[in-house]
Amino acid sequence: QSQELSQAHIDYHVALQALQEHGTRMVCTGKMHTDRVCRFDYLCYCSEAEEFVFFHSNSSVMLPNLGSRRFQPALLDLSSVEDHNTQYFNFLELPAAALKFMPKPVFVPDVTLILNRFNPDNLMHVFHDDLIPAFYTMKQYSDLDDEARLVFMEGWSEGPHFDLYRLLSSKQPLLKEQLKNFGKLMCFTKSYVGLSKMTTWYQYGFVQPQGPKANMLVSGNEIRQFARALMEKMNITTNVEKEKDGGSAEDEKERKDDYVVVFSRSTTRLILNEAELIMALAQEFQMRVVTVSLEEQPFPSIVQVISGASVLVSMHGAQLITSLFLPRGAALVELFPFAVNPEQYTPYKTLATLPGMDLHYVSWRNTKEENTITHPDRPWEQGGIAHLEKEEQERILESRDVPRHLCCRNPEWLFRIYQDTLVDIPSFLEALKEGLKTKPSVKKSKPASTVHPGRVRQPQCQTSVQTTNEAKLTVSWQIPWNLKYLKVREVKYEVWIQEQGENTYMPYILPQQNYTFSENIKPFTTYLVWVRCIFNKNLLGPFADVLMCRT
Ligand code: UDP
Repeated sequence: QSQELSQAHIDYHVALQALQEHGTRMVCTGKMHTDRVCRFDYLCYCSEAEEFVFFHSNSSVMLPNLGSRRFQPALLDLSSVEDHNTQYFNFLELPAAALKFMPKPVFVPDVTLILNRFNPDNLMHVFHDDLIPAFYTMKQYSDLDDEARLVFMEGWSEGPHFDLYRLLSSKQPLLKEQLKNFGKLMCFTKSYVGLSKMTTWYQYGFVQPQGPKANMLVSGNEIRQFARALMEKMNITTNVEKEKDGGSAEDEKERKDDYVVVFSRSTTRLILNEAELIMALAQEFQMRVVTVSLEEQPFPSIVQVISGASVLVSMHGAQLITSLFLPRGAALVELFPFAVNPEQYTPYKTLATLPGMDLHYVSWRNTKEENTITHPDRPWEQGGIAHLEKEEQERILESRDVPRHLCCRNPEWLFRIYQDTLVDIPSFLEALKEGLKTKPSVKKSKPASTVHPGRVRQPQCQTSVQTTNEAKLTVSWQIPWNLKYLKVREVKYEVWIQEQGENTYMPYILPQQNYTFSENIKPFTTYLVWVRCIFNKNLLGPFADVLMCRT
């Protein structure tokens, strides 16, 4: 049922003729294979060869036309993970005339997004690498709408989270495996290939140890809008209405509704004293505590619970990606097993602390070796070390800190991250108190304003010479144009003064719109002056054009 492509919607002969006459057309964005997404008319896929095919004709277009640089290393990354050599996309080329000798193509009428899922078995990867990038790639190209068809080319089967991928559009996504059911040659009438990497915040350590991406381009706002869209698709109602109402009676009622969520893992990386932890949390926060786990509930009901929580507590692990559904002002408490440094494994910390995400983040780490349960005899991928040389096993067992390492098979890392933990309650509560100096409250937290100042207007300078070694420099300007429409708590101005030819400058912060400088101002000297506006201490505006001021 799902694999019907309803050929009725397109006139087969018109399509075939267009392909034969015009061939394939490709126009891409992006300068490098790592930031490229390409749009195609009539990109074809040969299921026998497992290759995409570009048909050349008199009117085909290939932009960028890289020549053989197209293979150095590839046209683009098919997943959102940067420059991963198993995720490259390219096509073969043929003259359109070759179509005469090929199997009759089947045309796909839907606008199609072609991509690789990176690791569809792991919930964190599902969201970070696939769902959010696909969601925003679809926002970027308006014909990738609710009717768009997604095609996953990584070659995996549906996986445990396929229902989540189904939420991206109303059409059933296709797997590489299924493409051959459509015949030997399939041609996508309109398609986009690749994913925007704009929303990803974490790199997994293929070339340097894992950590936040160097140049993050996403804010909490986009993550929250994605979360809201997904919740709507899952028919989840939020408590936002409740939050909006003021009044102390409401406050009282709402406090009773506050709760802590413990996200438990049931197979690996366990919390061994979960009941004790739950009691401690209930006492500490004076709230009820509920537990969720991926093994026990359908995903939407977990999201429903988390979207109303004040605190989310869990062991480090992929389930913590659900913190993107926490309400503003909530707290995320991440637990780490013995010998694992929380500062080195921060996908969830980075998410929680994105500007505008408005979550509190606290980590706790087991520092007591007697409270850890190791599993040296498990298979290596679950952290077993029995296959290693005796000395190496001993070194690992003696180490109290996993040294920095690359992805993905470091045995010491796997050994430590798959330990079970008896959470030491006093040190846990201490970390909570230390980390949550302000108590989490869903209610209090309003989204911080992120409107930046415009340029200051009509900047001017006037100068005068007092004596042979004294001079004055008066700088004045008008408020930025957008300020008169805004309520801003604090407006300040920053002025930089640089003597021409010098490579240092003096910065000044001023509350008013003009100022006369006399200290360090010399007669018969040219000064370069920059002025900008600052809202609420840290929202910087752009500098106005530089002023040249001669005393
Ligand atoms: N998982 C789970 N319960 C468990 C262990 C794992 O639900 O007890 C899920 C986990 O959320 C992830 C997948 O199984 O989606 C793979 O888990 P793994 O421990 O390999 O990865 P990690 O959580 O460390 O990213």
